[in-house]
Formats: sequence, C-alpha cells, structure tokens
Amino acid sequence: MNGDLPRVETVIDLHAIRHNLALLAARATGSGAATMAVVKADAYGHGALPVARAAVEAGASWLGTCSLDEALELRAAGITARLFSWLDTPGVDFAPGIAAGVDLGVSSPAELARVAEAASRAGARAAVHLKIDTGLCRNGCPPPGWAALCKEAAAEPDVDVVAIWSHLACADEPGHPSIDRQAERFAAAYDVAREAGLDPLRHLANSAATLTRPDLHFDLVRPGIAMYGLNPVPQAEDLRPAMTFRSQVVLTKRIAAGESVSYGHTWTAPRDTTLALVPAGYADGVPRTLSGRMSVWLDGKRRPVAGRVCMDQLVVDCGDDEPEVGAEVVLFGNGAGGGPTAREWADTLGTIDYEIVTGMYRPRVRRRYLGETG
Ligand SMILES: *Cc1c(COP(=O)(O)O)cnc(C)c1O
Repeated sequence: MNGDLPRVETVIDLHAIRHNLALLAARATGSGAATMAVVKADAYGHGALPVARAAVEAGASWLGTCSLDEALELRAAGITARLFSWLDTPGVDFAPGIAAGVDLGVSSPAELARVAEAASRAGARAAVHLKIDTGLCRNGCPPPGWAALCKEAAAEPDVDVVAIWSHLACADEPGHPSIDRQAERFAAAYDVAREAGLDPLRHLANSAATLTRPDLHFDLVRPGIAMYGLNPVPQAEDLRPAMTFRSQVVLTKRIAAGESVSYGHTWTAPRDTTLALVPAGYADGVPRTLSGRMSVWLDGKRRPVAGRVCMDQLVVDCGDDEPEVGAEVVLFGNGAGGGPTAREWADTLGTIDYEIVTGMYRPRVRRRYLGETG
C-alpha cells in the first residue's frame, strides 16, 4: 500500500522534460539556433511554471506562450528568459506585456497599431515578431499584405521588429510537399522584410521540424510536444514522456460468471472473476468513449477496464488475481514495461496525444512533480 497515493494524480517528471529539451536544444545548437520552449496551455497540461523553469535549466533561452496572460504569469513568478506571446484578442491591453519585456506576435496592420499605441502609453519599446502566413492559413499576414506590414512596422517609432516567423502545417509528415512550399514562401517573405529595411531573426520550426529539418532551424526553434516526450514524427527519437496519470484500487470483489458490470451492463463476466474499483472517471479525464477500449497497468500487468467508464470511477477485470486495496493503477504513462501511453489513448480515440495530455489539468486531479530543483 502507498499512503502517498491520492485518488487521482498526474505525476510530471521534470527529469524527462530536461532530458527532452536538452535533446532538442542540442539539435538547434547544431545549426546555430536558439531554443524557445513552448509552454502554452499550461505547458500542454504539465504546469507552465515548473516546466518553464526546467526548460530554462536544460537550455531554453526563450519561452513561448499563446497569450499575454500566460506570459505575464511567468514573468510575475520570476522567469527572466525572453518571453514571446503570439495570439491575443483585440481587446487585450499590450502595455503591461511591453513593460514586462514580453515579445509580441503581430499578424496585421491593425494589431501593429494596437501594439504601437500600447508602447507609447507604456513608455517602452515594443519587441514584435511579424508573422507571415506561408500556407497554414490560420494566423499570420497573407503574402499580398506583407510588404506593407513590414514597411509600417519599420516606420513605427516605438516598435522594434525582432523577428519574422511562420508556422508549418504538415511538419509531422516529413517529406510532405507543403513543407518546402512554406519554406520557399518564408524565404521570399524574408527578402521582402530586408527590402523594407528590417534585419530580423527568423523562426519557423515546431518540434517535428526541429527533429527532421535542420535546414529550417534558422535562428530559433519552437518545440512544444517533443519537450513533453511525445514524438510527433515517424522516426524513433530518444524522448521520454513526462506525464503519468495514475490512481489506486479502492475496493476489490469477486463476482460470478454471468454478472454484468457498470452502467448499461455493457460487459458481462465470461467466468468468475475479481474486479478492482478505481476512483477515476470522466470527471477526472478518463474519456467515457474509452469504455470497452482501454486497459490499465496494475500489479505488473495490463488489465482491461470492464464496462462503462463512469463520472467518478471505473472497474478493472483482474481475473483470478487479487490486487491489494491501495495498489497503484497507471492509466497512462511512459509505457515502461508495456503500460498504456497517452499515444495509445489518442490512437484509440482518433485524436493526437497533444489533446490527451493538454486535457489533463482538472480540479480533481492532483498534480505532482518529480525532479524539482528548488
Ligand atoms: C504550439 C505551437 C508550437 C509548438 O508545436 P509542437 O508541435 O508542439 O512542437 C510552435 N509554434 C507555434 C506557433 C505553436 O502554436
């Protein structure tokens, strides 16, 4: 028994985060690039602040967030690395971000004007990264408006253009023709920026491109998912999944062949068997759609979940084994020994492991860290 086991928890291994980030930073350094660790969305569900600290310790000189709020929280907590925020809403006041030295992504003349106005109010210069849409067709300035955006940015007295940047659509499919097409458009956008009198850094690579396309590292790479130990590319990489999702057995019972288990009686015991009750359900991040399609790691073995996943609990079929009450149950982890992984859940559900881990921050799930350095 383990008195330290809460009902449900995610354990975040910061040793793994540091290992993964160091691997990515070494690739970047190999092509002369710096590393921006992407910690948006609460570090993909792993906890922004502890991950940010670990990433900086392991070699990241930049941290990337989606919103200014996320960046300002890191700054307020004492993070001194360069911060970059790239997707803010029109109503956001950029002035506190500029005052705190947060670099800002800019995709349009209107956004540039808001940043410039905030800079003059803050009495500080705004560091901006102009985003060119090279073909993802999401955020970013489309090529026809790019020259004007560069010229306007160059003319803004309170704005420093630090970088131009873009984002890849299909980097996780190495060899996909869109990658080279986007790279060509990025090169053209750089030429236009230079013609406008700018001398910007360049950044384009997410995790997949950091791992597979050194020619696209430029000055800075922006890995996210690989730092968390989840590999976005087909080739094997020495990445260690950082998140383990676990619970414990709270009750065991023997049932007779023919008894059915959990709501809807979707599973019927084919033989006399022992069931283990686990207090983890869809309110804790176990998708109900995994009912009948998942197994857990318990007492050194994979064991299937019997019947429906409920709001607060699920039931494991243990056959003739009798796990101890209090025994650890791993719902997903690093896969060591053959246990389930976030990737396995994602494959079963028809999604990606990004969505699984990012969805794990929930009020009822305790989060704990291994390898904190103080
Ligand atoms: C999320 C994100 C990244 C990181 O992508 P990964 O696939 O997780 O490495 C990089 N850049 C931008 C703009 C992003 O939104």
